[in-house]
Amino acid sequence: MRPLVWFRSDLRVHDNIALDEACRRATNGVVAAFVICPDQWTEHDWADTRVDFVLRNLAELSAKLNDLRIPMKILTTARFAGVGKELLKLAREYECDALYFNNEYEVNERKRDDDVEAHFEAKGLHVDRFDDQVILAPGEVRTKQDSWYSVFTPYKNAWLARLDELGGVEVRGTPQKQGKLNIEPDPVPERVKGFDREAARADLWPAGEAHAHQRLEAFVKNRIAAYAEQRDAPAVNGTSTQSPYLTSGVISPRLCFQRAVEANGGSFSHDKGAGKTGPSQWMSELIWREFYKHLIFAHPKLSMGRAFQPQTERLKWRDDEDEFQAWCEGRTGYPIVDAAMRQLNQTGWMHNRLRMIVAMFLTKDLFIDWRKGERYFMRRLIDGDLASNNGGWQWSASTGTDAAPYFRIYNPVTQGQRHDPKAEFIQRFVPELADLPVKMAHEPWRLSDEKRAAVDYPERLCDHQAARLRAIDAFKALRNA
Ligand SMILES: Cc1cc2nc3c(=O)[nH]c(=O)nc-3n(C[C@H](O)[C@H](O)[C@H](O)COP(=O)(O)OP(=O)(O)OC[C@H]3O[C@@H](n4cnc5c(N)ncnc54)[C@H](O)[C@@H]3O)c2cc1C
Repeated sequence: MRPLVWFRSDLRVHDNIALDEACRRATNGVVAAFVICPDQWTEHDWADTRVDFVLRNLAELSAKLNDLRIPMKILTTARFAGVGKELLKLAREYECDALYFNNEYEVNERKRDDDVEAHFEAKGLHVDRFDDQVILAPGEVRTKQDSWYSVFTPYKNAWLARLDELGGVEVRGTPQKQGKLNIEPDPVPERVKGFDREAARADLWPAGEAHAHQRLEAFVKNRIAAYAEQRDAPAVNGTSTQSPYLTSGVISPRLCFQRAVEANGGSFSHDKGAGKTGPSQWMSELIWREFYKHLIFAHPKLSMGRAFQPQTERLKWRDDEDEFQAWCEGRTGYPIVDAAMRQLNQTGWMHNRLRMIVAMFLTKDLFIDWRKGERYFMRRLIDGDLASNNGGWQWSASTGTDAAPYFRIYNPVTQGQRHDPKAEFIQRFVPELADLPVKMAHEPWRLSDEKRAAVDYPERLCDHQAARLRAIDAFKALRNA
């Protein structure tokens, strides 16, 4: 048997279930494929920086596969609809008789995968699909009433109990070298139509599995113990920064989880402190990732721009393009919000605490539709992931499952003072405020008129207290209607 392994958001050879299974079962070599879909990626709001990251990781993956004697073929077709035909042609050309791939859970991706499977099976070719993107497949954990969990804490408890039953995570290694084939790998293209690689920050986000592993090991060695205390401080390098690598599948979630369990003295049971120590708090974050994948699978409407709570579709969001642009560009006049948005624009990534602050600011203080913010994030993030991004936005907007209650609205000033007490992060990304004393860097509007005039920084777009009441009233009206 000669399987064709179709890579997507699993750009690695280590602990890749579809690749590992294909290599174990192959008797006559293995061929790999990746399909570039420029129009579909544009429609899905993939960021330039994400496409750049994918191409760089694809080159690393192709080299690794070459060492295993697996040639990587790279196809391009405008959108998902063309993938089945192209892959089948490739399978025919290189005499592959089976297709192996790891599942993705968003609506269009699932439809594409079902189409591809049907294409292959119609021609008598075997298809095998695996759940590799998550530790526990969607549906593996269900309530006692056999329905989908929609609240995180019971989901997490059931998730941990199920993992315990299964005896923990299994991490596979790198497959064995395969029999040599007379097939040349394709070069990775320099460009993808519609995407600009110029501004991507390869210096911040090096490609390749070796780098992802090094990053994980440095985190486990130096920072995981203090993660619970440091994870909310954007000025500190206190989190793992694994999200781009997890999103593109350059590292496996099982390996991340296993390293956290080891750092936690071998325990993941919540009775023994999950969420209380640094490593167990980090495990909880990995379970949030699983939770959002589970939701996107259970509720296809989440992939279609719909609110989890249907009544919130009736909210009359404000349509203020100038204020939206000011938010996008980091010109709201609220220093922590502006610093965060500039971090996103300059680096392709934003700290989790800041994602919550800016998302709440857009949806509550400016009362602008969460979908606009969700899309802007996708178009900028190197780790843009529909499930986690949608989950985070709907949490912040109070439209999601298990979301922030609508009346608990972050105050952008006290959030800044609490999580960036020395204004280090603010002053790093908002240089206009770099020379101010800490107190004024958080609240530049308190400067005397004369000093204020000397600082080239915008006035606040809104008064937080008044804006907060406006949002609360809109949600209350919805509840009363
Ligand atoms: C509005 C909003 C949008 C977001 N958009 C994305 C996105 O597009 N892609 C993305 O990967 N994450 C997203 N997140 C979740 C989170 O902000 C990032 O995963 C995290 O900041 C990545 O940094 P890290 O790798 O250092 O995380 P760590 O704190 O080291 O956590 C480890 C891993 O756990 C997962 N994780 C952590 N927090 C969350 C969370 N709240 N939800 C889901 N998974 C989590 C990530 O895979 C992360 O890499 C979003 C959060 C919010 C509030």
